[in-house]
Amino acid sequence: MGLSKTIWAQPSEIIRTKQPDHPVLVFAPTVLQATARRFLKGFPGIVTYAVKSNPDEMVIENLVAAGVKGFDVASPFEIDLIRRLAPGAALHYHNPVRGRDEIAHAVKAGVKTWSVDSVSELEKLIELVPTENCEISVRYKLPVSGAAYNFGAKFGATVELAAALLKRAAEAGFIPSLTFHPGTQCTDPMAWDAYIRAAATICAEAGVQAHRLNVGGGFPNHRQQGPAPVLEEIFALIDRVATEAFGANRPILVCEPGRGLVGDAFTHITRVKALRDDTHVFLNDGVYGGLTELPMIGNIDRIEVYSPEGIRRDGEAIGRIVFGPTCDSVDRLPGELMLPADLAEGDFLVFQGMGAYSSATNTRFNGFGQMEIVTALSLKG
Ligand SMILES: *Cc1c(COP(=O)(O)O)cnc(C)c1O
Repeated sequence: MGLSKTIWAQPSEIIRTKQPDHPVLVFAPTVLQATARRFLKGFPGIVTYAVKSNPDEMVIENLVAAGVKGFDVASPFEIDLIRRLAPGAALHYHNPVRGRDEIAHAVKAGVKTWSVDSVSELEKLIELVPTENCEISVRYKLPVSGAAYNFGAKFGATVELAAALLKRAAEAGFIPSLTFHPGTQCTDPMAWDAYIRAAATICAEAGVQAHRLNVGGGFPNHRQQGPAPVLEEIFALIDRVATEAFGANRPILVCEPGRGLVGDAFTHITRVKALRDDTHVFLNDGVYGGLTELPMIGNIDRIEVYSPEGIRRDGEAIGRIVFGPTCDSVDRLPGELMLPADLAEGDFLVFQGMGAYSSATNTRFNGFGQMEIVTALSLKG
């Protein structure tokens, strides 16, 4: 991956001028900063960024420029990255499971906010982390759906266990807080409703007032045709329900979006290597590259098709099976993609809304995955 100094006008200009044979992610800093400002203006609390969704340095720098002052980090690498690019920023170490050397690294880096979802990991923190001005957020889960896949499958204590952990963290001298993640690409805001009310129950059961409540990532980006998800509606719901559930004891709210912040700031240009016997489309990128997420959370249908001259193809759409470039039969996009009937070898498929979990999870499997990241003023057209 390399960054050139060129700033393109829009994706079709890149196609026309370079006809790139390798996958190209197009980053629009203006879009990222505008989304960051929407969060900062609209979210009723503190906005942090989940670094794992896209740790590109340009992304971090633009978020800092837009005013983001906190980051959700999950590893020593991410801690060091943020310490270097945003030295004064708050670090929330919200991976609830850590090795002892990772904990030591974070203590040394000045991490003051930690999440936990089990007795054993809490006892480890109590043993290794100085309590002074230090916050432990108990991560809990509920059996609610609404997201693209279930995050509770890996992390999160039940409500009962969360109450016990919160009490123990407070007794040990830490600032007690709560945190949850409703699941990524959560298009049903009622998931937040249920989680926030459960937080109040946990506090009541523990007899502990939570200092902060982190309402997670999960904020959706624009993956399907039609209107984009309206973040402000989710913010308003979170604000209203937090007051209803906690009244005068309402904790400070925090959010830690990854996808919702960065998703719409990148567009992904892929190329049709072959149209095998006019049925199967073979792209130069697939599930081992920038399109890793699609089999897990579903296709993006905001796709534009361009000829090598950069002319938009908008013939009648027909369903096609789409494969990635590797010799592995898993390397296939789910179902079929609706693509113009006049699609031809050498055309470009431009996927919108590709900023999250794309460059971050790109692999070099089978010798593919040579991905370039370029900058553009606009992602339209
Ligand atoms: C991945 C992650 C996020 C970001 O999730 P998105 O669905 O991308 O918003 C937030 N918090 C934690 C703890 C995470 O692991």
